[in-house]
Amino acid sequence: MNGWALSYRGFDPAQEGLREALCTLGNGYFATRGAGSESTAGAVHYPGTYLAGGYNRLTSEVSGRAVENEDLVNLPNWLATTFRVADGDWFDVDSQAVLDYEQTLDLQHGVLERRVTVRDSAGRQTRICERRIVSMHHPHLAALELRLTAQNWSGSLELRSAVDGRVRNTGVQRYRQLDSQHLEPLQGHAQEGEDLFLAMRTRQSRLEIAMAARTRCFLAGEALTPVVSSVQETDHVAQTFLLRLEEGQTLCVEKTVALYTSRDRAISECGLQARQTVAAADRFDALLASHSLSWTQLWRRFDIDVEERGEAGGTSCVLRLHIFHLLQTTSLHTIHLDAGVPARGWHGEAYRGHVFWDELFIFPLLNLRLPDITRSLLMYRYRRLGAARTNAANAGYAGAMYPWQSGSDGREESQRMHLNPRSGRWTTDPTYLQRHVNAAIAYNIWQYHQATRDNEFLSFYGAEIFLEIARFWASIARFNEALGRYEICGVIGPDEFQTAYPGADEPGLDNHAYTSVMAAWVLWRALELLKLLPEERGLELRERLALTDAELAHWDKVSRRLRVVFHADGLISQFEGYEALAEFDWTGYRQRYGDIHRLDRILEAEGDSPNRYKAAKQADVLMLFYLFSTEELAAVFERLGYPFEAQAIPRNVDYYAARSSHGSTLSRVVDAWVLSRSDRSHSWRLFKEALLSDVADTQGGTTPEGIHLGAMAGTVDIIQRCYTGAEMRGDVLWLNPRLPDELTGLRLSLRYRGQSLDLHMTQSTIDVCARPSNADPIQVGVRDRIHVIQAGERRRFIIGKARGGPPRRDRPVPDRCRPTTRVNRRGRRCRAAPRPGSPAARR
Ligand code: BGC
Repeated sequence: MNGWALSYRGFDPAQEGLREALCTLGNGYFATRGAGSESTAGAVHYPGTYLAGGYNRLTSEVSGRAVENEDLVNLPNWLATTFRVADGDWFDVDSQAVLDYEQTLDLQHGVLERRVTVRDSAGRQTRICERRIVSMHHPHLAALELRLTAQNWSGSLELRSAVDGRVRNTGVQRYRQLDSQHLEPLQGHAQEGEDLFLAMRTRQSRLEIAMAARTRCFLAGEALTPVVSSVQETDHVAQTFLLRLEEGQTLCVEKTVALYTSRDRAISECGLQARQTVAAADRFDALLASHSLSWTQLWRRFDIDVEERGEAGGTSCVLRLHIFHLLQTTSLHTIHLDAGVPARGWHGEAYRGHVFWDELFIFPLLNLRLPDITRSLLMYRYRRLGAARTNAANAGYAGAMYPWQSGSDGREESQRMHLNPRSGRWTTDPTYLQRHVNAAIAYNIWQYHQATRDNEFLSFYGAEIFLEIARFWASIARFNEALGRYEICGVIGPDEFQTAYPGADEPGLDNHAYTSVMAAWVLWRALELLKLLPEERGLELRERLALTDAELAHWDKVSRRLRVVFHADGLISQFEGYEALAEFDWTGYRQRYGDIHRLDRILEAEGDSPNRYKAAKQADVLMLFYLFSTEELAAVFERLGYPFEAQAIPRNVDYYAARSSHGSTLSRVVDAWVLSRSDRSHSWRLFKEALLSDVADTQGGTTPEGIHLGAMAGTVDIIQRCYTGAEMRGDVLWLNPRLPDELTGLRLSLRYRGQSLDLHMTQSTIDVCARPSNADPIQVGVRDRIHVIQAGERRRFIIGKARGGPPRRDRPVPDRCRPTTRVNRRGRRCRAAPRPGSPAARR
């Protein structure tokens, strides 16, 4: 990686799946993996295209049992473009002599480029240069340009361009025993001189998908009208162009595709719309220009520049890759869709495109840049509130219980059987018991509101979800008379290795600390939230939800009396009984197996179970320190009537960090965060490891099936909020930077309550520049002081020991940094107020 590019040299079949996932192009509406345009699905290539929220449900038989799954559907392959010279072999990097191969993902402009030179069996050498976009400007358009140069031959060339609906969901090896045929054909059209057209439908969800593709050939800028033959089947349409090239000539092929579905708005019918859109589409260069402009605008909001000591920008580049994939999964185009944020992006079929709790790691980035996207993703949850209520009722609870894995309609999509590829055995999967996802949703609503003060969202959507989740927590908590405490039993935490007590018949753990503390927090905040709402809306909601004073009093009581269990030495126990589990032989297993990320699979294959050991897949108790500042956590514990000392945090961190296999890519993100104040070099090391999760596929084979969006966004957020100490609390944006020694500074832009702030932080200074706008002043806290910052203002705060001088506290910005003009609240530019005491002020 270099600056703004992810580049590969040479073709490597073993790496192709990873490259395809990392070079996926998308625009929030749909995404296409970075497979070669000529490739077909097989052991090496997997040219998948996915629609945001495009699911279908199928039932398969596994070991005599019916297994139902809802999957993100692999759509017809629109890339499908290849050629051959005379009647030689079709272009194929797997079987032809590849003389030169280079692939670059240009992050700045969102373009995938590939340059290949091949020689066919007759010795004819052709240079292929491909550029591809999935338009960030026009969400329904994608295009590719192929430039084919005859290097040492003259003769005829056959070009074939297709839209291939004969695709299945076969991207994940361990799902291959399941039914994978999600599409059925509707109509194919491929007539001479016309655009290709293919319409298909998902078999169960009845989603119609229409693709129209236009392929044009140009020689020296002149459009050609080559002979065309075509294939017209209901699931596959293709055109073949016959051309002649002289040695040294370059043929330029442009293929543009329009994708619409029956779910789109402002259309008459998706097929008609796809045909019209592709017919009206510009040429490649014009499409590229508008697409690049959209990316330039996104980067203005999202770029982060990390100034590293020594090394030249490696970190910034990977962070950009992460931001890039986040924006390809959820973009401004998502705002009009009914889609959630999938754990693995729309980049592959792992986890079937399902939505978990990963948004907890993703929203902070969106909240502080383009919070409208968070809003739309929270609306995905709001629309499924009814299903969450049904889920709760079916499980015997009140309120709303969101599923651990969510797809189209909000029912629980977690699989109940899981294939362990190591043992080949299907085992039961109880991870749906991760009720903590509900706390994450409530927390996300709170954070979104902190960042935006979007009272309308809170009043009409957010509060209802929040209150119903609080109601769920109050109902799952059962009073233990003997202890005088409420208990939450039978749940699973983020650590998916711990699913049951050793030897127990039923899954689930009791008094799981993260779950219970989060539940207490939700119940407490729910009471506060009711006070935040305008009186009449609060009343309306209470009427609508039949929320009585007695019920609120009960919430208050539960929020003060939930049970948390501690080890004998005062450490927080991950759950009741954790302390009695055996220590795990980390050294022995590392020696035997090398990679022990997926200890669960190793132990199951050995006939053992991680339930017997103090061995975590990922951070669990540590999530509390990840989500809350010491002050906030202390307040929750105090309310619960438990002692909480800030000094106990590092002890908990050390204890649990030493007992994790980091089997989830989220784990290092959390550990890097919680160690950032106590052990900065360790934190930096973990951060760097987390950065590599996808780009180096450190889990060995998971990234080809889809990127890890939570870890991608989480690493960026470590820079954005952890190292800057940015915290939104009590209507103040607090900044308390603590840069790792490896950094000399960082630059980023944040959006907070309508103001866009450009921040530059070094080891000793914070520069804040509020861009001109008509937004209200905001409060920014540095150290213990709160400063009111107006739009158009610039401030410098000295936070550490300035080089060569005595330590200085926050102080006003020197005159040279003060803006001479600012924008007043009516949006007019006016003279900035002079610094108090300055000669200008005295005048
Ligand atoms: C992790 C979960 C995560 C899911 C989807 C699992 O491996 O344990 O915490 O939500 O992946 O990313």
